[in-house]
Amino acid sequence: MKKTLIAATLASAALCGADSAGAQEIQITQPGSMSSVIGNPNNFTGHVVVDLLTPPSTETPASSGLVTFAPRARTAWHTHPAGQMLIVTAGKGWVQQDGQTRREMKTGDVVWIPAGVRHWHGATGTTGMSHIAITYIRDGKNADWMQLVTDQEYDARQ
Ligand code: MN
Repeated sequence: MKKTLIAATLASAALCGADSAGAQEIQITQPGSMSSVIGNPNNFTGHVVVDLLTPPSTETPASSGLVTFAPRARTAWHTHPAGQMLIVTAGKGWVQQDGQTRREMKTGDVVWIPAGVRHWHGATGTTGMSHIAITYIRDGKNADWMQLVTDQEYDARQ
């Protein structure tokens, strides 16, 4: 996810006291308690909305967010330095590993993207898709962003 989001999540982690010593408490966050963020056009094509679910902390170097893609919307090509898990919560989408055919993912599917694997994910050409992304952090970073996925790449079946 984009740098500003990471900065926001780290600030939010500090606010929650997640890094402070002593007993910590279970937190329950209500929907809508944090602002939705429009996907940064440097990292996403089309209409994408990102809702942060949980920020990273020192003990738990991972963030989670709900990402909603309109039809044809997708991430840019990118890698994750410590991997990413996607849980599809609505609709149908595509995920493609560089050098392989794009694959379909649908509600309920769990997708593991290993560290360093160049890939993109997004909606299909005709259906929207939402996934929860749990993204692990290494050296303060959860993604390395690359080129946008061109329409030609997006529409290719192989
Ligand atoms: Mn990814």
